[in-house]
Amino acid sequence: KARYADQPEFVQAATEVLDSIQPALDAHPEYEQVALLERLVEPERVIQFRVPWVDDSGTVQVNRGYRVEYNSAIGPYKGGLRFHPSVNLGILKFLGFEQIFKNSLTTLPIGGGKGGADFDPKGKSDREVMAFCQSFMTELQRHIGADTDVPAGDIGVGAREIGFMYGQYKRIRDEFTGVLTGKGLSYGGSLCRTQATGYGLVYFVETLLNDRSDSFDGKTVVVSGAGNVAIYAIEKAQFLGAKVVTCSDSTGWVYDPDGIDVALLKDVKEVRRERLTAYAEARPSAEYHEGTGVWSVPCDIALPCATQNELDLDDAKALVANGCTVVGEGANMPTTRSATAYLQENGVAFCPGKASNAGGVAVSALEMSQDSERLSWTFEEVDDRLKKIMAGIYANASKAALDAGKPGDLVVGANIAGFLKVADAMYAQGIV
Ligand code: NDP
Repeated sequence: KARYADQPEFVQAATEVLDSIQPALDAHPEYEQVALLERLVEPERVIQFRVPWVDDSGTVQVNRGYRVEYNSAIGPYKGGLRFHPSVNLGILKFLGFEQIFKNSLTTLPIGGGKGGADFDPKGKSDREVMAFCQSFMTELQRHIGADTDVPAGDIGVGAREIGFMYGQYKRIRDEFTGVLTGKGLSYGGSLCRTQATGYGLVYFVETLLNDRSDSFDGKTVVVSGAGNVAIYAIEKAQFLGAKVVTCSDSTGWVYDPDGIDVALLKDVKEVRRERLTAYAEARPSAEYHEGTGVWSVPCDIALPCATQNELDLDDAKALVANGCTVVGEGANMPTTRSATAYLQENGVAFCPGKASNAGGVAVSALEMSQDSERLSWTFEEVDDRLKKIMAGIYANASKAALDAGKPGDLVVGANIAGFLKVADAMYAQGIV
């Protein structure tokens, strides 16, 4: 831990995994002889680079770009790019480390990676975003490829940014390949990729509820975030009969007792790119609050879909006191470790993000398959595969938890199930 003292998010993610996989290590004493864990925590490669670009006033700006190529034992590096002012190496290492196990859980052949930049797309013109994306890709293109490393979107990187980066990659490399996922449908994207993480989260939680002879139908749900993951989690939960009463962004949150109007939310966030105040202005039933606070709203199910460490111990206590019985992570590591422990100790079914938000990367891998065979599958076909993949992840994580003597503990189950496949592949490939 001392070695990574300046990377607290990475330490948090790594210790959570390492603390929970002891049963798997006991069953495989041979891993210790090849320093498997010491190799696992160290990225295979970290790339850091300068991203110069010119803003609309003619001033030269310089941002810092990264790609963490963490682990390629089971497939090409795969994981999103995040553009947000808070991006630093420690955050990308936490995300890349989580991605290794998440990708393994999907059962698809994809390794773990993550990247991004400390660039803030908020308030920038389309031309500024394009200039940044082109400069970012001018360097990144030499490190990635359809069989090497396939980035996707994350916070601050959606269809617009992926399009600009794909155009620049193609221009420099003169090849039309599936080097990025989350592409537009007219140039190699997959139907259902936009919806995949949010829908996948709801499919995962619905599988858990069905396992308890229950469902989303009639439930009150609290969601944080108002981005890609949140919007499609809200849409699918409401489709399954739940009422979602909140959403949030980095400046405030909305309480809408009539249920979030998804069409309006999409218009505000995806089309107009405005703040949630615009939602509240257009919706008479909605209350707008500055700051944070969604976890104080009584609910049956909570779905954190914004960012890391957004649900702390006090929030967990409020959720339990108000009768919440399920927490499903749509974001990566949105729940602090003490909050997770409190929820689990108080009987809340806790779905860790590396299992419950794996739908996005799973459909990204399906996009890679479609690009390779130069075919595109129907929405129904992709959605059906997504449903089966999420149900499979739930089944595998549940079984691994049971085998480890911790029935129902999906944190332990997901970590062990994800770890074993990667560890087996690393062991077989020798000390590299
Ligand atoms: P978006 O950029 O589309 O949306 C992020 C949302 O979270 C926005 O509403 C944003 O508000 C809010 N948010 C971001 N940072 C903060 C912060 N520091 N404090 C409060 N609110 C914040 O990103 P996504 O929906 O794609 O990603 C959300 C989470 O899901 C991330 O943890 C991401 O890693 C994870 N994830 C995403 C996947 C995907 O396929 N997109 C796949 C798997 C996981 P504002 O607009 O004001 O910044």
